[in-house]
Amino acid sequence: MFSYNDILQGNDGKVQVQSAVPADPALLFQSAQHDSRQVGPGDLFVAIKGARVDGHTYIPTVAQTGALGALCTEPAIDVPPHFLQFVVPDVVEALIATARVRASRQQQTTMIGITGSNGKTTTKEAVAAVLSQQFPTLKTHASYNNEVGLPLTVLRLEPQHRYAVLEMGAERVGEIAWLCSIVRPNWAIVTSVGTAHLRTFGSLERIAIAKSELVQALPEDGIAILNYDDPQVRAMSQKTQARVIYYGFDERAEVRATDITGNVLKGYAFTLRYHDVHLPVQLQIPGKHGISTALAAAATGFLAGIAPDAICSALSSITAVKGRGEIKRGPNGSTLIDDTYKANRESMLTGIDIMNEANSSSGGKRWAVLGDMVDFGEYSRDEHYAIGQGLANKVDYLVAIGDEARFYVEGAQAAGLPASQIYYFEVDPTNSVQFEAAKQSVASFLLSRVQSNDLLFVKASNPLHLHTILEHF
Ligand code: ATP
Ligand code: MG
Repeated sequence: MFSYNDILQGNDGKVQVQSAVPADPALLFQSAQHDSRQVGPGDLFVAIKGARVDGHTYIPTVAQTGALGALCTEPAIDVPPHFLQFVVPDVVEALIATARVRASRQQQTTMIGITGSNGKTTTKEAVAAVLSQQFPTLKTHASYNNEVGLPLTVLRLEPQHRYAVLEMGAERVGEIAWLCSIVRPNWAIVTSVGTAHLRTFGSLERIAIAKSELVQALPEDGIAILNYDDPQVRAMSQKTQARVIYYGFDERAEVRATDITGNVLKGYAFTLRYHDVHLPVQLQIPGKHGISTALAAAATGFLAGIAPDAICSALSSITAVKGRGEIKRGPNGSTLIDDTYKANRESMLTGIDIMNEANSSSGGKRWAVLGDMVDFGEYSRDEHYAIGQGLANKVDYLVAIGDEARFYVEGAQAAGLPASQIYYFEVDPTNSVQFEAAKQSVASFLLSRVQSNDLLFVKASNPLHLHTILEHF
C-alpha cells in the first residue's frame, strides 16, 4: 500500500500528473504491478519498456480493469477520466524513488535482506513460513529480487507488517548496495557464494564482494545471519559492525543440525539446536541444502522470539519451490527431480549428489537429463566439462540437450562414462522451433527407455525452459 503523495514526494519536480478529474492526494494504491495481467482494482500499473514488450501499450487495457493509474513516460489518450497518469522521465527510477519514500515510512517493520548465489528464494519462503507463525510478514513474490522487483515488494508493505523478507539478487558488484539504498535491511541472510552469473561478475572473489554488500549495509544494531559452512560467507563477519549469528552443520554454528537421519529425497530428519533448545524436525524438502535452508529460517525465528515448537512445526511444513528440487512422477512411473528453474556449478553438484545418494538403495538406474548452464561467458566450456566429469561415478546415463551441453558429454567421456550410456541431443537454444522439437525427442526417448524404479534429475538454466519436457510424463 502506498499513496499518491509517496509518488509525488519521491519524484519531486519530476512528475507530471495527468487526469481529466483531479485526484485526492491522500489516495491509496493497493500495490504496483509491472505485468499487465497481474493488475487488479486499486493498483498502479508500472509501464516499463522492455527489450521485447513496451508496457505502455497496455495502459488503456489496465485502465479498464480497475487500475487507478499508471507510471509512464508517455501518457495514453484512450483512458477513463479518473485514471491517473504519472508522467516521469524514467519509470524505473521513479518506481525506486517512490519505494524509497514508502520504506522510510515503515520504521515498525524489520527488513530482512536475503542474498547468495543459490537458495535465496528457497530460504525466503522458509523464513517467511517461520515468521508468519506469529507475525504479519511480507515476502518477495517469486524471485522478484532486482531493481524492479524489490521496489514492487516494498510498495506492498502494509502498516501492520512486522517483518519483510526481501530477496536481493545481483549480477554485478554494487547492485546489492544499490538495493540496500532503496530499503535498508535490519537483518541480512547470506546463503552461499557460488558461480551464478560468473560472466558478468568476472570472478568468484568479486561475487563474494558483491554478496558482502548486504552485511555492510547493516546498522550497528542489525543482525547478520551467515552460513558458517561456506567459508566465503563465514568471512563476511569481518565486514560488518552488526551482531553475527551463524547457522550450519559445523559445531561452531549457533543454530545447527545434529543427528541427521532419513531420506535425501523425502527430506531429512534432524535435531535443531540453538543454545539449550534441542528439538526434532522432519523436513519435506530434499537434500542436505534443505537442512541449511531450514537452519537459516530457524535463526530468524529464534531472533524474533518465536516459540521453538512453532519454529519446528513451520520448518516441517515447508515444501520445495517450483522447479527447485521438486519430486515428481517421471516417465513410466519413475521418480523425477524437477530442478529446471536454474543451474550453475554448485546447484548442479548439489542435485547430482542428491541423485547419487538417493539411488544407492533403490537399485534403479540414475538418469541425468541436463541442458545448458547460461551466463558463464569464457568459463562456459570448462564449467560444463567439469560437471560432465563429476557425473561419471554418480549416474548411469547422461542425456544432454543444448549447445554448451556438448561439453558435459566430453567431460563424462573423459572421466570414463561409457559412450553407450551417453545421449546427446544437439540443438541451438536460440532456434526455438528446433529446440522444442528436440525436447519432444528427449521426452519420447525417455518414455521408451526409463523404467519404474529409475530416478531422473532434470536441470538446466531457466531460459532453456526444460520443464516443458516434463509435461510429456
Ligand atoms: P535466483 O538467483 O534465480 O533467484 P535463488 O538464489 O533464489 O535463484 P533458489 O531458486 O532458491 O535460488 O534455488 C536455485 C537452485 O539452488 C535450485 O536448484 C535449488 O535446488 C538449489 N539450492 C537451494 N538452496 C540451496 C543451498 N542452500 N545450497 C545450494 N543449492 C541450493
Ligand atoms: Mg530466486
